[in-house]
Amino acid sequence: MRLDDIRRSSNIEDRRSGGGGLGGGGGGGPRMPLRGRGGIAMIMVVLLLVFFGGGDTVGTLMSILGVGSGTSSQSGGFQADASPPKGIDQQANTSRSEAETADRVAAVLGSTEDFWTAHFARNGATYTPATLVLFDGQTSSPCGTASSSTGPFYCPGDKKIYLDMSFFEEMDRGLGAKGDFAQAYVIAHEVAHHLQDVTGILPKANRAMRQQGQNKGADSIAVRIELQADCYAGLWAAQSNIAQALEPGDMEEALGAASAVGDDRLQKRAQGFAVPDSFTHGTSAQRMVWFKKGFESGDMRGCDTFSARDL
Ligand SMILES: [Zn+2]
Repeated sequence: MRLDDIRRSSNIEDRRSGGGGLGGGGGGGPRMPLRGRGGIAMIMVVLLLVFFGGGDTVGTLMSILGVGSGTSSQSGGFQADASPPKGIDQQANTSRSEAETADRVAAVLGSTEDFWTAHFARNGATYTPATLVLFDGQTSSPCGTASSSTGPFYCPGDKKIYLDMSFFEEMDRGLGAKGDFAQAYVIAHEVAHHLQDVTGILPKANRAMRQQGQNKGADSIAVRIELQADCYAGLWAAQSNIAQALEPGDMEEALGAASAVGDDRLQKRAQGFAVPDSFTHGTSAQRMVWFKKGFESGDMRGCDTFSARDL
């Protein structure tokens, strides 16, 4: 991706430990030694807990690229961070490559904001962007503790995306999803959960899941939420200013990422076989299909996974 001409978002709350003066509710917390293989092992442990644990675990973590189930009213003692997001804290960067990654996050987030603001405006609506919390180690959210083991997620409770800097490293090494556009896809997917939230899709789906208890399985509501987010990410990739920034191989990177974080792939890595009943994100093939649908559809209506018979 060539990002020179793309606006950097300032809707970033940088809670990385290198940064000063970023106090407030979240807090940086201790830096956890969860890099490389250790981190992946930790992710797998959490995934197994998510897949085989009780419903509460599923609701709280929703695993990689998930969407948290917490709301402000459920969060009990959680104190929301009242300080406004200030953008990337350059002093928090510990290396040149970390600075580049952080800058890419700001650019991709900026691109999603410009695109969805225009898209909403065309439909007579106003888009209120999400704040992205960039952290290392761990930090707190109304949806529970965010750490490198939970993977990136969107929390409806405070309308923030939680992104651990080391996740991209894990993607690169452990999940085999390489490249800057693969990272962009992850951010666009989380932003899509925010879209689902502000358009009322997510609250409705969460209510339905609570009533029906249908939050697992290959055609569950949970999978439909995830595949729709992939579709919205595809829509953004095709029509935003990122589309002009794409270079040969970028699409393959995104599809590689969509494929690498499919439930079947993650489960096979973790336990050697896939169990469709515990799918909450869709298979690798389904994620690629819906990302492509978004890319080709040109409209949010083309991303209606809830009325689709075949996912
Ligand atoms: Zn997701």
